Amino acid sequence: MAKLNKKTIDDIDVRGKRVLVRCDFNVPLKDGAITDDSRITAALPTIRKLINGGGRVILCSHLGKPKGTYKPELSLAPVAIRLSELLGKDVRFAADREIVGEHAKEAVAAMKDGDVVLLENTRFRPEEEKNVDTFSRELASLCDVYVNDAFGTAHRAHCSTAGVADYIKDNAVGYLMLKEIEYLGNAVEDPARPFVAVLGGAKIADKLAVISNLLEKCDVLIVGGGMAYTFLKAKGFSTGKSLVDESKIEYCADMLKKAELLGKKLLLPVDTAVADNFPDPIDAELDIRYVDADKIGESEMGLDIGPKTVEIFTEALKSAKTIVWNGPMGVFENPKLAEGTFTIAKALASADAVTIVGGGDSVAAVKKLGFADKMTHVSTGGGASLEYLEGKELPGVAVIQEK
Ligand code: ATP
Repeated sequence: MAKLNKKTIDDIDVRGKRVLVRCDFNVPLKDGAITDDSRITAALPTIRKLINGGGRVILCSHLGKPKGTYKPELSLAPVAIRLSELLGKDVRFAADREIVGEHAKEAVAAMKDGDVVLLENTRFRPEEEKNVDTFSRELASLCDVYVNDAFGTAHRAHCSTAGVADYIKDNAVGYLMLKEIEYLGNAVEDPARPFVAVLGGAKIADKLAVISNLLEKCDVLIVGGGMAYTFLKAKGFSTGKSLVDESKIEYCADMLKKAELLGKKLLLPVDTAVADNFPDPIDAELDIRYVDADKIGESEMGLDIGPKTVEIFTEALKSAKTIVWNGPMGVFENPKLAEGTFTIAKALASADAVTIVGGGDSVAAVKKLGFADKMTHVSTGGGASLEYLEGKELPGVAVIQEK
């Protein structure tokens, strides 16, 4: 296992101390109800360890994208209820719009060893995502020890993931973070080869940026999903109404050259499912056709990889010894556009390789198919796992050091 050169919660004595834990409770909600509590259950080992160690456990997290203002529908109140059920003990919820307000201060002051308090959504504060000192100091004022266990946001330098650690002497990483880093670290430090990375999805700008470094580490890079069309455009193909980031066409052309120079395979779709429009609603009945990747019409939109592409991609996966996958191959939420994503998920499940899946939607696809336990590791963080794999030090981990 890769060794993490940081303090973990096994290295600290928390008895009688106020421990602020940054969790990732960014759970999917529908009409105020939690539809998947995996992120809460993933945080339990750390929380239980701290409770059993006699710590006064103060939990914080973001939820959704309130963009610095109070949004009642993004309150963490439902998480407090679910967490209390899972832990089988009281979780006091501090419902302060400003997070570190009167309720939080009073709740923390009243804590006994082993008690648990949950603070309100950290992203209600405009300072959070800008990592502004004022909020970091307020968070720090609540605690003696800081634990970061939010792998999903560890690639962001925010007040609750990084800034707060500057004001606290005792810092450590939690078990979830540790597990993620061990798995991902092993995959990239000395991967069993061939090492194949599969990228897809729609967050093009973020994900294209990791390609340059990933190309240096992997043997084969497979690009599908919404990301592929900027590459196809860079090859001079017309992409119709498909998702394209015009500002990244030159970058993609450079990546094609880089792959060639390094002697790495960069596999792109050779055919694609097209429709006249993006399905609305997303699972709407839809007329689709398959066309070659260089024959996308002006009024057409590429929404999944085609059967010839599926064959090429699955062939490359068969001989792989390490596979990292992030992002679906198409708009898999629509039954007619799910084939590419599902076949890739199946290929990973049956591969004789170390398989790591990251990213909300790729993980959802794998779970839906019942393949989650066939993967070596299902990561809780999409962007974070990619940045770690490409060799970046995550700000949320970098700050955890002995002072
Ligand atoms: P992460 O958690 O790292 O963001 P993810 O697996 O959730 O990873 P995203 O980049 O968020 O992946 O993209 C997922 C979305 O991409 C899905 O909602 C899917 O419908 C969409 N998508 C996939 N292919 C296409 C396409 N060709 N055109 C438009 N959208 C696409």
